[in-house]
Amino acid sequence: MEITTDIAEGSASEVGNIFTWSNPKAADIGNSAVEFLKALPGPTHIHLKGSDSSRSRAAVTLMHGNEPSGLFAIFALLKRELKPVVDLHFFILNVDAARQSPGFIYRMLPQHKDMNRCFTEPFGDSEPELVAKNLLEKLQQLQPECVIDIHNTSGSSPSFGVTTFMDERHDALVSLFTHRMIVTDLKLGSLMEISDAMMPTVTIECGGAQDSESNILATEGLSRYLTLDDVLSKQHGDMTLEFFHNPMRLELHEDKDIAYGDHSLIEDGVTLLPSVENYNFGYVDSATRLGFVSGGLAKTLSVRDNSGEERISDYFELRDGELYPRRKIKLFMVTGNPEIARKDCLFYLVEPD
Ligand SMILES: [Zn+2]
Repeated sequence: MEITTDIAEGSASEVGNIFTWSNPKAADIGNSAVEFLKALPGPTHIHLKGSDSSRSRAAVTLMHGNEPSGLFAIFALLKRELKPVVDLHFFILNVDAARQSPGFIYRMLPQHKDMNRCFTEPFGDSEPELVAKNLLEKLQQLQPECVIDIHNTSGSSPSFGVTTFMDERHDALVSLFTHRMIVTDLKLGSLMEISDAMMPTVTIECGGAQDSESNILATEGLSRYLTLDDVLSKQHGDMTLEFFHNPMRLELHEDKDIAYGDHSLIEDGVTLLPSVENYNFGYVDSATRLGFVSGGLAKTLSVRDNSGEERISDYFELRDGELYPRRKIKLFMVTGNPEIARKDCLFYLVEPD
């Protein structure tokens, strides 16, 4: 197979380099997504020539090494040797994290930054920041008409799209995959935040990394993305989009710990009931017990609204050390992974419309 380094004068191992692989044949990519992954030399740009090469689209995936649905989808579509309607640029980014044994376990390599927090100035010289910077330069140069960034949720979850920008182009892109749409103003340094300055960009969360339906959803959505002439002006799918505006994050204070269990396991922190994961995209209210907190609610957990105001006691309360919502809210991206809960958040919440 022919893989060339993208920067002619750069060495193959240059930190943050994105390799280019043009028009791979089905026979070149191995017999499984895992073999395909092993064949990639690092962050890789796969360029497929389309029927109309005057236009192009981009799809990014594996920004997080433990979120393989986008990779499975790209593998499945390359095997079919579909000729896309326009040029397609796939970017498979965190190859190194994904292939750490036993495979698809690490969101990122130990001690590395979360790449999807790196798409903002200033760019440092760490590897994820350099890959992010290189990706932005390539998008600037290639000028695709749109970008989708394909992820999985860490816990089991229905699929949904996320956008920082509201218009019919973003709605149309999300509707290729799912009918749930989160609209957020939160700026975290994620790729979709380039929508304002560059081109329509959405995040697609295909559902849980362990759920086989997630791979099917990613493959079907990506197949529409490759084959439909117009992906930006009308909604696809038979369900109208359901919108969730301005989610907030339930975060753990830095000096506190978290565990998951049916009784309080942590002396200074929070224990979340494992069943909370079942409420993904469902409502909870003041009758729903979520877990246990020791050490005081406001000292342990935090919810900030869009203006940065602390709102923990508007949304949650403790009754005899047990954690309950104060009002009806909808939860999503509930994680059962203490590492993600500590570094990112326990879950997102939105008020009913
Ligand atoms: Zn992700």
